[in-house]
Amino acid sequence: MSGAARVLIAGAGPVGLAAALRLAQLGVPVTVLEKRMQLGRVQRASAWLPPTLEVFEQLGILDGVLRTGLQVRRIAYLRAGTATPLASFDFSLLAGETRFPFRLHLDQGSVAAALAARLTAYPHVRLAFDAEVVRVDQDSRGVAVRVGSALGDRVERGAYLLAADGMHSAVRACLGIAFDGVAMARRLLQVLTPADLRVLVPGATPATWIDAPGGWCGLLCMPDLWQIAMPLPDDESDEAALDEAALRARLARFLPIGAALLPLVARAVQPVRRQVAGTYAAGRVLLAGDAAHLAQTRTGLNMNCGLHDAMAAAEALAAALHCPDSADAALELYARERRLVATGQLLPYADRVVPGDAASAADLVDAAADGARARAWLRSAGMLDMPGFRAAVAGPGLPA
Ligand SMILES: Cc1cc2nc3c(=O)[nH]c(=O)nc-3n(C[C@H](O)[C@H](O)[C@H](O)COP(=O)(O)OP(=O)(O)OC[C@H]3O[C@@H](n4cnc5c(N)ncnc54)[C@H](O)[C@@H]3O)c2cc1C
Repeated sequence: MSGAARVLIAGAGPVGLAAALRLAQLGVPVTVLEKRMQLGRVQRASAWLPPTLEVFEQLGILDGVLRTGLQVRRIAYLRAGTATPLASFDFSLLAGETRFPFRLHLDQGSVAAALAARLTAYPHVRLAFDAEVVRVDQDSRGVAVRVGSALGDRVERGAYLLAADGMHSAVRACLGIAFDGVAMARRLLQVLTPADLRVLVPGATPATWIDAPGGWCGLLCMPDLWQIAMPLPDDESDEAALDEAALRARLARFLPIGAALLPLVARAVQPVRRQVAGTYAAGRVLLAGDAAHLAQTRTGLNMNCGLHDAMAAAEALAAALHCPDSADAALELYARERRLVATGQLLPYADRVVPGDAASAADLVDAAADGARARAWLRSAGMLDMPGFRAAVAGPGLPA
């Protein structure tokens, strides 16, 4: 098997595209294989945290995303029906620790589009649509990937493969890598509205959590829409939750004004998952992003963590190509470190951030009132206490 020095990437989501761009910057030829006919545009992750903004800067897309996204500097916790925040946290407390003391709200499709546009500047990168990875073989010289498309099957060859093909990763399945976790019964009902919720919810900021008896609700403002997320009880079916009357009755518990007439442009039920791959490396294949880990979306960290996987994976793959003698060490270091971030930090943090019972509400109030605790809270929520990516074992002479 040979693919010279080319790296193959399965999946053109934000993680695959970010890895491709970093590899391109490092001078490595890349082929991205995407099963869809175009980039995904479905509304999904939307909050980008300070360390990820540094990644965007390194990838050369920061100015563009700052222009289109919404900079959110305050997170508010409200009790339904009261305008005075139960607690609020101001990112300016982190001004001494990061050049980006805010969250950027922008849908992940726009970020993926910005990454893909930037990739066109690199002639050694190929982005192939209608290219579904269906089988992976490898030997000591490289990987061979069978790709299905409307025009028939073909084989793509490379030195290494990065699996960034999402939660149902075909690459992970082909390699028999376990994706263990707790099958959580919890689900989220998500709706999108173009109405400005700051008008309907006094005290709301563009990142607001509302507690009400028996539940909570998250309101996230994006440049042109608000996303509303509410957990569902285990015994309620998806169909029942999506029913118009039931949905508006649930909304009314959090939005006393306007729930009956709120314009809704989308609604969906999403399972809450908690899973991590048994290993992030198998021979010449690395895993990153949702292919490697899933944590509940309320924290907003899963996507951000995936972007940092992408950068670390790209550095490790470039180092492996540059120094074949230490290639195994570079890949193992990536796998060990990034899996530890997921199991040691991402998942425990996501588990702690459980919707507000009385104890956690009291804890929030105390934390917000105490400068040092508020700063610590913001550092966790902003991912500043989680290791980001760092250059693996890049040898001397690797292009900057
Ligand atoms: C409804 C929803 C809401 C979410 N909200 C949030 C949020 O608010 N905050 C947050 O942090 N996270 C959120 N997430 C999670 C976030 O969207 C993911 O963490 C993120 O998309 C992971 O990026 P990725 O590139 O790893 O995977 P994906 O974005 O899933 O991209 C994988 C890509 O691989 C392609 N692909 C799949 N299989 C193959 C194959 N066999 N061959 C070739 N290509 C393939 C897919 O078409 C896709 O383009 C949400 C997820 C969902 C579903």
